[in-house]
Amino acid sequence: MTVRAPAGYAAIVTAAGRGTRAGGAPKQWRDLGGRSVLARALDAFAGFDRVVLVVHPDDMGLALRDHAGGVTIVSGGDTRAASVMAGLEALEGQATHVLIHDGARPLVGEAVIQGVIDALQAGAPAAAPALPVTDALWRGADNAVTATAPRDGLFRAQTPQGFALDQISKAHRLHPDDAADDVELALKAGVPVAITPGSEDNLKITFPADFARAERILGTAMDIRLGNGYDVHAFGPGDYVWLCGVQVAHDAGLVGHSDADVGMHALTDAIYGALAEGDIGRHFPPSDPQWKGADSAIFLRHAADLARQRGFIFGNADVTLICEAPKIGPHAAAMQARLAAIMGVDASRVSVKATTSERLGFTGRREGIAAIATAALMKA
Ligand code: MG
Repeated sequence: MTVRAPAGYAAIVTAAGRGTRAGGAPKQWRDLGGRSVLARALDAFAGFDRVVLVVHPDDMGLALRDHAGGVTIVSGGDTRAASVMAGLEALEGQATHVLIHDGARPLVGEAVIQGVIDALQAGAPAAAPALPVTDALWRGADNAVTATAPRDGLFRAQTPQGFALDQISKAHRLHPDDAADDVELALKAGVPVAITPGSEDNLKITFPADFARAERILGTAMDIRLGNGYDVHAFGPGDYVWLCGVQVAHDAGLVGHSDADVGMHALTDAIYGALAEGDIGRHFPPSDPQWKGADSAIFLRHAADLARQRGFIFGNADVTLICEAPKIGPHAAAMQARLAAIMGVDASRVSVKATTSERLGFTGRREGIAAIATAALMKA
């Protein structure tokens, strides 16, 4: 979900700094949970008609490689203010309002951006997010407190900082000297700035530890895994089959090294798949005689326990059995309950359904049963 900005709104994302205090390559190009810091910052403004990305001249190649579509890329200047100016010039005559965002703040959320837009839409010439200072403030020297300072009325500034485009452009031209941020320039030019709600998650990546903190924030919000599983067992001699942990009378049995529970095997593989942990054969080799005739619940319980050990909870699981016979419908509720009990989840999170294959293929010729399964895991 991204904020859909009103017509005339543009965004400038600044990434021209060479800041290496976070260690290694410039922080905005480093990976954060599978995407670069900068890509995440840009994503937040995907709902804006115009987005200008300001990069260091040395990073032009990287920027063109990663962000060529939908974004205007310009080369930054020697100072932060000069870089923003380059972005503002690229927007001249093309927008009424601009939100200027620090590319090192990858986790800016919808609410923060919307708050700035709302204040501008209500008529403020400038608006920026901030959080009130809640910690006590001290002055110090040589590792000792030299004085305390009142925190009343103090705020920690964040971005994006939003402005009427003509006003912030004028402020930059009037005060080309560098400033900590665009709010400082706006105030110097006499433009009042409204404070909108910031967010603790909208952190600025500065030090190496900030990556770990950002990953923790992302992880709780986003680690959702899907896995799929597929299995087939052939019919053989017998008068019952095991399907999803339930014994079902049939005019044949299923052939397999274990109890040949094709549905449970597909589900178990789906869970291993979500964890990138291979399949049943990796954890319970068929070459090992101890698994001969084994109750497949052992496999499913192992996969479910592994998921929990990794910190995941189950979103849901869905198993489809593909066969002409036996009929699954009368047993589906018992199968759901049995699978859920083995996995340690509520039965409402487990689905078992069935289909025929219209007498086509090996399942249609009643040579065996196939099963597919999907499992969704979430990091608790
Ligand atoms: Mg199998």
